[in-house]
Amino acid sequence: MPDPLLGASAPLAPPIYPSAVYHLPDLDALDRVYDGSVPGFVYARDGHPNSARLAEKLAAKERARWAVVCSSGMGALATGCLTVLEAGDRVVASDQLYGRTNQLLRAELARFGVTTEFIDVGDLARVREALRSPAKLLVVETISNPLLRVSDVPALAEIAHAAGCRLLVDNTFASPVLFRPLDHGADFVMESLTKTIGGHSDVTLGLLAGTDEALRARAAQAASVWGQAPSPHDCWLAERSLPTLELRLKAATANATALAHHLREHPAVAHVIYPGLPGHPDYNLARRLLPDGCGTMLGLVLRDGTRPAVNRFMHAVPFCPSLGDVATTCSHPATTSHRFEDPAANARQGITDGLIRLSVGIEPLEEIRAKLDAGLGTRET
Ligand SMILES: *Cc1c(COP(=O)(O)O)cnc(C)c1O
Repeated sequence: MPDPLLGASAPLAPPIYPSAVYHLPDLDALDRVYDGSVPGFVYARDGHPNSARLAEKLAAKERARWAVVCSSGMGALATGCLTVLEAGDRVVASDQLYGRTNQLLRAELARFGVTTEFIDVGDLARVREALRSPAKLLVVETISNPLLRVSDVPALAEIAHAAGCRLLVDNTFASPVLFRPLDHGADFVMESLTKTIGGHSDVTLGLLAGTDEALRARAAQAASVWGQAPSPHDCWLAERSLPTLELRLKAATANATALAHHLREHPAVAHVIYPGLPGHPDYNLARRLLPDGCGTMLGLVLRDGTRPAVNRFMHAVPFCPSLGDVATTCSHPATTSHRFEDPAANARQGITDGLIRLSVGIEPLEEIRAKLDAGLGTRET
């Protein structure tokens, strides 16, 4: 319905539609909305203009057939699982997943009779072996946290499909600017919009997108029935972040690449983890799959890994256990994401007390370098 107040004009900035419910003229109109012959909305948990427009824009970025915006990244992952899994099904997953994803598979879905085998997905022979027993879903991350291992998505898709299994890729650390899993054979892509795509730490949202038209309605139903509806205001903010996404990602990735090289030479740093550095175990794979850069996350291991040294670093670079903001922030995997893991297993993987995870922002490089140098004790704060 055109708004008489606006007359011949239209706002350049999109409106927010906070309405929880929609008014329809009669039953015939309701039927047409439900059967999809005219566009429209009925009840906001099933869809609203702000989520619909955001989903459409993100589907185009991911080259997806369909996309569902959910109330968080975990909501999107849960929706992906609920779309394809049933009691008795088996999942194969990376053993380096985001902590809450791990919990979703290990603790929550297990209660519904879904079992998950966690393996090193960098070992393709191991993946082939695990998929010899039937599995419905293979779950991996494009770039893992915090060791930034890169998944060979095209190879994993081929192996999964040969075994009759679908591939779901959590692409949060790469974003569609650097990598589009669906272009490389994945069946589903998931993004935490809370991170880089939102980019300003002011929304909590997630995206699930896919290629199989037959699953569009299943995914939409799962999202609605399991209560994953996103808030219109958050969708509106996330939409506002989209025009700057590529600029932000490219600037932050350029900063991260420069900082990786800078920190590698730094006397207070024992080791830098970045897939764009030749010493990283996935350097060659990253060059092939991530030609536009390896993203905004990097790990550094302090020579002095004691608590006072880590605390001093955090006084110079804001500490918050998230990522993807326009500002550079840091986190400490051993006491945040991996706090409840076995310390010996953490140490074996390289998640030590001296490991700091940096989420690099878009500030001028010199500004970030000054902060890092202050945190590393080589400049006054
Ligand atoms: C943050 C994050 C999630 C979960 O997203 P939320 O929006 O916090 O629910 C999933 N995967 C990765 C890699 C993340 O960083």
